[in-house]
This record gives sequence, structure tokens and C-alpha cells, in this order.
Amino acid sequence: MTDLVVSRPEGLYCPPGDFFIDPWRPVDRAVITHAHADHARAGHRHVLASRAGEHVLRARLGAALPLQALDYGEAVTHHGVRLSLHPAGHVLGSAQVRLEHGGQVWVASGDYFASAHDERNPTCAPFEPVRCDCFITESTFGLPVYRWRPQAEVLAEVDDWWRANAAAGRPSLLLAYSFGKAQRLLAGVDAGIGPILVHGAVEPLNAAYRASGVTLPPTQVLGERADREALAGALVIAPPSVHASAWARRLGDFSDAFASGWMQLRGARRRQGVDRGFALSDHADWPGLQRAIAATGAERVIVTHGQEAVMVRWLAEQGLRAESFRTAYGDEEAAA
Ligand SMILES: [Zn+2]
Ligand SMILES: [Zn+2]
Repeated sequence: MTDLVVSRPEGLYCPPGDFFIDPWRPVDRAVITHAHADHARAGHRHVLASRAGEHVLRARLGAALPLQALDYGEAVTHHGVRLSLHPAGHVLGSAQVRLEHGGQVWVASGDYFASAHDERNPTCAPFEPVRCDCFITESTFGLPVYRWRPQAEVLAEVDDWWRANAAAGRPSLLLAYSFGKAQRLLAGVDAGIGPILVHGAVEPLNAAYRASGVTLPPTQVLGERADREALAGALVIAPPSVHASAWARRLGDFSDAFASGWMQLRGARRRQGVDRGFALSDHADWPGLQRAIAATGAERVIVTHGQEAVMVRWLAEQGLRAESFRTAYGDEEAAA
């Protein structure tokens, strides 16, 4: 039987369908799982992606993007390959790609957030397990050390940190990836503590989320002239790249924190040089990956980016046929 997805220099390729999934080079036909920069590159002649992610994808790749939007679960057939998209729970619009051809079903996950404790990202549709013969999985946090604590506990710590800073008259600078993580934090914090200001890179994504029907608390872009009084009790959400920059220094006396799955590792916060680290991730942790893979029923698993070697070894130990694809995908939770 022919493989429904193979690795090519341009990206993951479906030979019978003649299209790519999240290609890292411009191609004629691309299926895009989600709008993070390493999965959604510009320059494709035709793009197929989820309708739920249309606003964020256009916010990232331009309004003129040649996009065909599909509802979750809606199927199209191309060169005899039946294709449908299913929620991945990672960020708004994120999708797994289900391919059916010649009696086989393959699913390419893109990035996903699945939990062994039924936690979910409140800003997007929850991960949907899809039965398949072969599952192509990410493995960003595919090490046994990664086990997320309940989100509510982590968010309560963010609130406590913000509240204490506000009481001391200090702004709270929260470093978070501008697409996905920033909106998840906005949806999760207690907006009653004080005003919320955001970096200019964050607000266009907030607008895309709101246009897509996701409720977020009011936010204001932090302008060139920061008003010290307005800043005093504020939460300021900005991408990690502003750390220790002139942009951040305008905040005066502030406390900073970084929200990322990597903050679970001892020493990561110190290496990052921030006051606080909050381990909050949009990717599945080790038990979440295991549960998601088992739920597919797949006998063959191909690991893309992250901890490939550890995950492939673990899968082989479970009696599954396991291998990896070399990809150009990165990690949007890493510090800039
Ligand atoms: Zn992603
Ligand atoms: Zn990724």
C-alpha cells in the first residue's frame, strides 16, 4: 500500500492527492493545520484550512490569501483522496488533517493540545481523537518530565502575581507568544484586577479572535508614550522578544514573567532572566500525547518535531511501528 504522506524537501506531501501539509517552501497546493509561522508560510498558490482559523490565518498571511475554508468535519475529495479537518485544541482554528484513500486512513496532527485530565484550551475547539491506521504526531513536549498542572492552578498563580504587583504599584509584564498563548492568558486571567495593555504585535490577533466569536477582556495597545499612572496596576502582555529591550524599560519599575511549557523545567526561569515562570502550554504534555496517540488506534505512528527519538523509542516499546520525519517546524513556545 502506498503511504498517504511522505517527506519531501518542500514539506509533508500526499502523493495520491498531489498536495502538501504545512509545507515550509512555497507550493501549488497546501493544507495548513494552523497559523503559527512555522506551519503557515506565505507564497502558496492555493491554501486549504479550517473556517474557524480563517481570521487568524488572514491576520498572519494577508487578507488576499487564496484560501479555501472548510468547516471541521466537512469533507472534500481531491484526486480520489477524501480530506477533512478536525479540531486539534492547540490555537484558534488548529486542525488535524484526516486523509482517506485506497482503504487507508491517515491523520496528520499539526500541533495539538490533548490532556489526560480533560483539560482544554478555552479559546478554541477541543482536540478530537480521530481513528486512523497511521497517525503523524508532534512531540514538542514528548518527555516524561512534562506533566502540566491543572490550568486553573497556574492561572491563579498568574492572578496572585499580578495582584501583588498592582498592590505595590508596579506593572506586570507577562511575556507570551503573541498568537495563541497571549489570547489563552487573556481568556484565563481575572480581568478585574486592573487594566490590560498589550504590545502592538498582540492586538491584531486579539481582533481576529474577537471577530471569530471568542470572548476576550478589553485590551489596549501600549502606545509610544506610556502613562505611568495607567501602568501602575496594569498587566502588560508582550512577545518574549521584548525581554530586556528598550520597549520593556519604558515600563519603569516592573516585574516580569514568562508563560511557556518550558517553564516547567527547573532552572528555565533563571536562564530566561525573568522574575517568574508560569508553565502553561498549548501543546500536549507526556500523558496527553500518550492518551491522544492511543485514542487514534493507529498501528503506525510517525513523529515530526520535538523529542522524536524518545517518542519513537517509547512507541516501539508499545509494539507500534514508529518512525520520524525530519521537518522544518520549530517551537513557538521557546523564548525569542
Ligand atoms: Zn503551533
Ligand atoms: Zn509546531
